[in-house]
Amino acid sequence: MKNIAIIGAGMAGITAARTLLKAGHKVTLFEKSLSAGGRMATRSTLLGNFDHGAQYFTVRDPRFELAINTVHGTKELIKPWSVTSVRVLDAHGSVLEAARPPREPHFVAKPGMNALLEHWSKPIPAKHLLMGEQVNTIQVDPKDSKKWLLKTSSKNNKLKNHAGFDHVIMAIPAPQIVELMMQSTPKIQETGFLKTLKQVEMGPCWTLMIAFPQASQPGLAHLGPQWNAAKSTHHRIAWLSRESSKPARGSIERWTIQANTAWSSEHLHDDPSRVTAKLSKGFSELTGIYAEPGRSELHRWLYAKTIKPLGQSFLWDAQLGVGTCGDWHIGHRVEDAFVSGLSLALAI
Ligand SMILES: Cc1cc2nc3c(=O)[nH]c(=O)nc-3n(C[C@H](O)[C@H](O)[C@H](O)COP(=O)(O)OP(=O)(O)OC[C@H]3O[C@@H](n4cnc5c(N)ncnc54)[C@H](O)[C@@H]3O)c2cc1C
Repeated sequence: MKNIAIIGAGMAGITAARTLLKAGHKVTLFEKSLSAGGRMATRSTLLGNFDHGAQYFTVRDPRFELAINTVHGTKELIKPWSVTSVRVLDAHGSVLEAARPPREPHFVAKPGMNALLEHWSKPIPAKHLLMGEQVNTIQVDPKDSKKWLLKTSSKNNKLKNHAGFDHVIMAIPAPQIVELMMQSTPKIQETGFLKTLKQVEMGPCWTLMIAFPQASQPGLAHLGPQWNAAKSTHHRIAWLSRESSKPARGSIERWTIQANTAWSSEHLHDDPSRVTAKLSKGFSELTGIYAEPGRSELHRWLYAKTIKPLGQSFLWDAQLGVGTCGDWHIGHRVEDAFVSGLSLALAI
């Protein structure tokens, strides 16, 4: 039995943790946010939830399909989103590419995308599921030079040391692994991962969430277009969807608007109020909805989407006991994160 630290409670980290636990290892999962999910994220507001990260997921890989079908309680949490069509709009909201019937189901978790990983994290004993605990550095354990020690800080700035790990898995975006490795003992650089990781490119995404409680008045089904989701070639906006069209989301009309990578990069450090104004304007141009939202919230994802993946499903240095997993190894989707986490755990 190995004592294994996993950094990051997204799809990759939780999949790796579940697999290693099943194989009889002791696993401790460190997550800097207060809940599991990572980029499968849900923002709760008084007017309803928003999936401000992953919008839906596909089930193409047979191992992912097996997990969805067999992990207790999962089938009840997953629903196909009857977004019968995703159309492509031009900058003014005109349809460039007509909606085609989806080639495959688009699945969502209910009542929000984060529900799947919150459920999948349950087999990890509560005392080993350390939420709100950011790993700042990885050091050699002073009591045993073959083991690792992780230094963390929690939301209230409490610093802690966690010693005695045989292995460390970093299940976080590649640029954050580079940062973490640079803050850690020089020994970790003997893995040679740094050079490899620097080949990976990930891009940001500004995400705007808006709610229109006024659209819930009797007799008014919803505002604006008849469609519920669209990709667009608008110079700011890549994707927009009506949250309230997803299963078990409540009826208040809510939209999630995601900027494209180029615009998000260019405006990465803009004032949030300016970003909100620009994305709201684009939203009106695309949907014809000019009403003032009852609520709007903004989120900046620094590492949202893989632009250049690594091309191998994980990294593992058996001698040092250090590995990496995450979607960016092979792609940019939820399934890629699952396959990466599973593959690394099976290799270990
Ligand atoms: C805006 C957006 C839209 C998307 N749309 C889709 C979509 O429609 N379909 C789809 O399939 N995929 C989509 N994705 C991608 C999908 O969300 C990811 O592929 C998947 O969730 C990645 O999982 P992961 O485990 O690799 O990483 P993450 O989910 O990023 O998990 C990493 C975790 O590590 C934590 N962490 C980071 N650093 C530390 C540290 N030092 N200490 C402790 N914890 C740390 C983070 O808080 C996070 O919880 C989208 C992503 C975004 C952002």
